[in-house]
Order: sequence, then C-alpha cells, then structure tokens
Amino acid sequence: MKLPASMSTIGWQAAYRLAAAAVVAFLLGLITGRMAWCFALVFGLYAFLQNWNLSRIERWLRFRRVLPPPDMSGPWGEVVAIVSRIYRRKQFHRARVTELLREFRRLTTAMPEGAVLLGPENEILWLNGRAAEWLGLRRKRDFGIRIENFVRHPDFIEYLQTGEPEEGVIVHDVGHGASRWLSFHVVSTDAGMRKLLIVRDVSREQRLESMRKDFVANASHELRSPLTVITGYLDALAQDDKLDAAWRSPVHEMRRQAERMSLIIDDLLELSKLESSTPNHDQPVDVGGLLTLLRKEAMQSEQGTKRIDVKLDTDALLLGSESELHSIVSNLLSNAVKYTPENGEIELRWWVDSDGAHISVRDTGVGIPAEHIPRLTERFYRVDEGRARSMGGSGLGLAIVKHALQRHDGTLRIESKEGAGSTFTCDFPPERIVPRSALKEAVNR
Ligand code: ADP
Repeated sequence: MKLPASMSTIGWQAAYRLAAAAVVAFLLGLITGRMAWCFALVFGLYAFLQNWNLSRIERWLRFRRVLPPPDMSGPWGEVVAIVSRIYRRKQFHRARVTELLREFRRLTTAMPEGAVLLGPENEILWLNGRAAEWLGLRRKRDFGIRIENFVRHPDFIEYLQTGEPEEGVIVHDVGHGASRWLSFHVVSTDAGMRKLLIVRDVSREQRLESMRKDFVANASHELRSPLTVITGYLDALAQDDKLDAAWRSPVHEMRRQAERMSLIIDDLLELSKLESSTPNHDQPVDVGGLLTLLRKEAMQSEQGTKRIDVKLDTDALLLGSESELHSIVSNLLSNAVKYTPENGEIELRWWVDSDGAHISVRDTGVGIPAEHIPRLTERFYRVDEGRARSMGGSGLGLAIVKHALQRHDGTLRIESKEGAGSTFTCDFPPERIVPRSALKEAVNR
C-alpha cells in the first residue's frame, strides 16, 4: 500500500487546533497578565476534551454493533469516518461470504452426488447429506476420522492409495443401509493435500448392465437348440438325392446362413462368459507352442494358399488362461486369413521387451482405413458390411479379443494401411511374463 509522504489531513487538523489553543492562551495571558495560568488552563481544557473524545470513540468501538458512530468534528471525526468505512466494508464482505457459503450448502445438499472433502491422511473434513446417507456417516461426529474406517472395501482402499484418480472405482454394498452400487471418483485440490471424493449411486446402471448381459446369454442359449434342429434337417435335406433340383441352391444357402447364425450365437455366448465370470489367470501358458499349433490348424484349413510364419523371439511363458489366449490369437489369425488375398503373407510373433510381453499378428491383406480403427472392437462393427458378411464373420471376433485381453490386463494395438496390410498387437504387462527357467526350477523343487 502507498503511504502519503506528507503529513496526513488528521495530523494537519490536530496541529491547527493545537496552534489555535496556543493563540487563545497567549491572548488571554496578555489580557489578564497571567500568561502561565492561562496556558495551563487552556491546555488543561484541551487535554480534557481529547480524553473525552478518546473515551467516546473507545466506547463506540467496543459496542459498534449496537451504537451509531459518535458525532464528532475535526481530527476525531476523520478517525471515526475512516473506522466506519473499514467496518462497513468488512461487514459487506462477511455478508457476501456467508451468503456464498449458504448457497454452496444449498447446492451440495441438492446435488444428486455425494461429496466428501478429505485431508492429507484421508480424514473426513466435510461432507454433504447424500454422502452421509450412502456411506453411513454423521456430520461433525465423524469429522477427522479416516474414510477407510467407514468404506472398508479392498477395491476402494486400493483406489484411494494407488489408483488413477480419473479412473474411479465401483464398489458394491459398502455396508450401510440399502444394497447399492457406488462409484467413487477423486478430484485433487491444492497439490494433493486435500481431495474431494465424488460418490455416485450407479445401482440402476449396474442393474441394467447385468440385465443386458443376462438377456444376451439367455437369448443365445434359447436360440441354440432350435437352430441345432434346423441345421440338422437342412443337412439331411442337402444330402437327400431326391431333393428337387430347384431347391438345391436355396437349401445350400439356408445351411450357410444357419451356420453363420450358430457362429454368432457361439461368439455371443463366449462374450457373455468373458463378461460374467471372474478371471482365473494364474496358469503359465506356452505362447510359442500355442502360435505353432494355431499356424498348423490354419495351414490345414487354408491348404497352403497363404504363407503363415511364426517368429518366436523368446521362450518365455505368459501368465494367463490358455483357452482365452487361444481364442485371442485364433480370432486375430482367422481375420488375417480372411482379409488377406491368396499368396499374401501372415506372421505370428511373440516377443518380450522392457514394456512387457507382446503377441502380434501381421498380414499383407486389404488393410483398414484409419477412420475405422478406433471402432473395430465394438460389437458387430464392420468396415465393409458386405465383404465381412460374405466372409462369414460374426462381427464379434475383435470384441472377444478386447474383452479377453482386458482380463489379462492387456491392450490391443491396431496399425493398418489400406491396401498394404494390418498388424494387431496384444500388449501384456511385465508382471505376466514367466521365464522358462523359473518354471523348470519350480518343477525340480
Ligand atoms: P468379423 O467377424 O466381421 O471379422 P471382427 O470383430 O473380427 O468381425 O472384425 C471387425 C471388422 O474389422 C471386420 O469386419 C473387418 O472389416 C475388420 N478387420 C478385422 N481384422 C482385419 C484384418 N486383418 N484386415 C482387414 N480388416 C480387418
């Protein structure tokens, strides 16, 4: 703040008054001939007046909430005006902050989400009504207590300690009141010292999601038996020599379509299984052996029209589920075979580097335009609807690959150039690599 260099208005006013008192005392001294007495009397009166004003101001300052400002002139009047101004400004700001706080409380109470403010040790600093209801907390009583004491779910505790804030975590039944699915998201404030925990009730979404999964699984099951009957009759009809020649082609087409339908149903059932079962992935899988076996099977069905190579850069094993890894690679390989013209080349590769373990399926086929790549793993998404149908695909192959990979903490990378071929790479984290030596040691022990 910039201070005035010269004496303040109050200072000048006080100096004038003092000078005026001195002049009055001097004149009185001249008139009465008792200079000393007159000075003593005038300055005594002056000091008394100052004291009196001071005590009025002090009284007003003490009781300023109820008393109006004292009516004063001169320097004391200036002081009162300055103090009044500061006081009014403070009252204005206080009223604004109080109003804002009230507004904030109203909003957080009306919010459909729960909100909990946590300190550096995850202790509860504040929470809104919704969070109190869902987490079984009580305001004030539970302030200062760590949130883990109320929400003891291991997934939640792991998320709070090591999780990626934006990912969030969904937890079922935190154990207070009605059984609920709650999603938690952390928003960090002031450099991680405080965290705002946003809680949402996602029970409805979870119920709908599980209804969707159940519906797909049940419908697929129900469709399977009638389809088996239809396929059986169509097979019999196709082999019947007495069948009218005009019906041969339609029956053949019906058989083809029925086969496609069973393929779709099988894939839907496989997807449902991947979505509903808990992963059991602690089996060391010989990826090299798996790739070699799949190559052999593909070569047999292809009868050697395309070259398929296997490149094994490591003999390490991968911790996972053999059947799911088989499904991943066989889906990628059958796509590569489907979308690669005759005399094309396909390469299966297995290698390990500092980022983890990788399986890739590379082909020199038709390739995929860049704009389609992000959507390829969606169910029933096809680049070229007509071609994919005529190839006999279910449209679910890559969705299965994505789900099975997720269950292995893996991700799918797709690189492709239209007309030049595609590479589908499955990346697995380093924790899943089992060196072959480790396996031998375990067997010898
Ligand atoms: P589909 O059963 O139709 O092959 P997928 O889910 O396996 O279903 O694949 C989705 C789409 O991705 C396919 O329809 C196809 O257009 C495209 N695709 C998948 N793999 C390849 C590949 N190796 N080369 C070119 N296109 C591919």
